[in-house]
Amino acid sequence: MDEARNAQQTDVVVIGGGNAGFSAAHAAAQRGRSVILLERGTEDLAGGNSYYTAGATRIIHGGLDDVSDFIEPDDRHAVTEVPAYTAEEYAADLRKVTNGKNDPELTEVLVAESQDTVRWLSGLGLKYRLMYERQAYVREDGSYLFWGGLHVGNVGGGEGLMADHTAVAKTLGIDVRYGHTTTGLIVENGATVGVTYSLTDGSTGEIRAESVVLAAGGFETNPELRRKHLGEGWENAKVRGTPYNDGALLQAALDVGAVPGGDWSTCHSVQWDAFTPWNESNRELTNRLTRGGYPLGIIVNRDGKRFLDEGADFRNLTYAKYGREILKQPGSIAYQVFDADHRPLLRSEEYDMPGISVESADTLEELAAKIGVEPAALVETVTTFNDSIDRDIVWDPNVLDGRAARVDPPKSNWAAPLENGPFYAFAVTCGITFTFGGLKSDTHGRVLTADGTPIPGLFVCGEMLGGLFSENYPGGTGLAAGMVFGRRAGNLA
Ligand SMILES: Cc1cc2nc3c(=O)[nH]c(=O)nc-3n(C[C@H](O)[C@H](O)[C@H](O)COP(=O)(O)OP(=O)(O)OC[C@H]3O[C@@H](n4cnc5c(N)ncnc54)[C@H](O)[C@@H]3O)c2cc1C
Repeated sequence: MDEARNAQQTDVVVIGGGNAGFSAAHAAAQRGRSVILLERGTEDLAGGNSYYTAGATRIIHGGLDDVSDFIEPDDRHAVTEVPAYTAEEYAADLRKVTNGKNDPELTEVLVAESQDTVRWLSGLGLKYRLMYERQAYVREDGSYLFWGGLHVGNVGGGEGLMADHTAVAKTLGIDVRYGHTTTGLIVENGATVGVTYSLTDGSTGEIRAESVVLAAGGFETNPELRRKHLGEGWENAKVRGTPYNDGALLQAALDVGAVPGGDWSTCHSVQWDAFTPWNESNRELTNRLTRGGYPLGIIVNRDGKRFLDEGADFRNLTYAKYGREILKQPGSIAYQVFDADHRPLLRSEEYDMPGISVESADTLEELAAKIGVEPAALVETVTTFNDSIDRDIVWDPNVLDGRAARVDPPKSNWAAPLENGPFYAFAVTCGITFTFGGLKSDTHGRVLTADGTPIPGLFVCGEMLGGLFSENYPGGTGLAAGMVFGRRAGNLA
């Protein structure tokens, strides 16, 4: 290794090699700053939660013509309709799912800069596409209609995203150091002037820098902190992504005078394969353990009872709050149930996953027996559900079709009777994605103290930045927020 790459002094040190950290590093390096990025994972285990994603990125746009110059070409574009997604809609979705608890200033910046920041990353070498398999259904005439406001994603999903980020970092001369766990912040005269770290062999060191950018994720992998902040039972949630985001640097920042930002008592969590043996931090299957097809069926608990509205809104706007509802059920287990008519509509990537937790049977009684549910209870639930459906309304998964099951709890859209065997039950539990609480900063990522002044030299972005989300979250916003506020932090650092 040459001397420059061994340097323990730099302009900017970025902590955390996920989407937010790399975005910050690129922006700083483009300004001519020397940048070292410290990543806790070794090279084969790096990429953070960002690696595990589908790459889905929520941006504003005016329809297909507005994005076609930066997405990969695809023959299907000629027969594709992508409804525009406006700034007003983006802001309204954030307001709706968080019950208005989203920070208005952060929201405004996120929304306004979302497309421009994807264009910037695309210009650097990241590759984007339309996500046909997740966000569009084929219409009867063979054309495609996109839904839900979330349309653009990375080529190759999270793995592609992180491979592209890593390649860009190389081009920009960023010194990425893997296997470096940052252990603390060095503060002198009130300013952050560097960090301490440890290596896997137990040795330690420090790096001095004018600016430190924190991009080391939330506290989702830390069972004690989950129990403390999210509540009892959360220690049992399964970790969907990286095993490294343990909240240690959130605490380190609080210790030097940063104030908490956003909602520390809630998080992003989803329905997640309950019984497959490797159902935490699985780098091979990544997000394939998610079970996002519930709007097409019903969900019952171990008592055979429904307990939530599977069709309350588009999947992108409900999936991140339903993990919590599963956690509350007996044994923190539930079953997504489908019949033969709707099984083919479930996304293959998720529902044909190797080792998936599923049972099937020709009758509901047999299915119930296989999953340990009282058969009469399941039959009663399904019969009541089927009988309550407003069958005069046309079923249409592309829109909020209003085809409701008027039962308690209701299914507000896409209610279809479960009538034709074989029937399928997919076992799900609660998978935690990331925590919503973080540090308070201004819109440039400057970490703030209790009196509202920035801590000199200290920046934050990504999951570590609190304030955008509470209770729930619109899909694709984590990557969007990471790149927008990462870039902003890197533009100042
Ligand atoms: C299965 C799954 C699917 C998802 N799908 C999507 C999606 O499609 N679209 C979307 O927008 N969001 C998605 N998300 C959420 C998304 O992953 C996050 O919002 C986003 O990636 C966070 O980026 P980040 O850079 O802040 O954190 P991360 O990508 O988690 O990066 C943080 C990095 O910090 C490192 N680190 C932690 N502690 C230390 C330390 N002490 N020293 C050094 N390094 C440290 C970690 O190793 C990690 O690499 C998904 C998440 C998961 C788990």
